[in-house]
Amino acid sequence: MNNFRIGFGYDVHQLHEGLDFWLGGIKLEHKKGALGHSDADVLIHVICDALLGAANMRDIGYHFSDKDPKYKGIDSKILLREVMKLIRHEGYEVGNIDTTVCLELPKVNPHIPAIKACLSEVMGIEEGAISIKATTTEKLGFVGREEGVSAYCVALIYKK
Ligand SMILES: [Zn+2]
Repeated sequence: MNNFRIGFGYDVHQLHEGLDFWLGGIKLEHKKGALGHSDADVLIHVICDALLGAANMRDIGYHFSDKDPKYKGIDSKILLREVMKLIRHEGYEVGNIDTTVCLELPKVNPHIPAIKACLSEVMGIEEGAISIKATTTEKLGFVGREEGVSAYCVALIYKK
């Protein structure tokens, strides 16, 4: 049982008109997009944080500083590939991840198959190990007012 470890990730980004909206490695068509130093892909960021947390290897900001111009506008898929390298270097493999995206609009559900296919390729794990769920917050709070997007992820990793 000592070979199993669990990790958790949480992240928020503001939404503004005229920005690209990247979610889970794919671009959503919407009048608003997420604001951030990188491409602001909230779903990939929580996956990175859950994996790093499970391995007790700090967080995404520790490894890829938002003060570093090198990461300005960077495709978060590159960061996720790096995180996979970091945890595999420590001898870990991913058991499964389970995520929830909190977003009023656009609807995430139609995009889930494409997101799973993308993340499966980037992480080098089976689609069956990747769960993507979406919820609104019933018009409440910053998500409900369409001012932002948040996401949560838990990840199970193990040492072979
Ligand atoms: Zn983020």
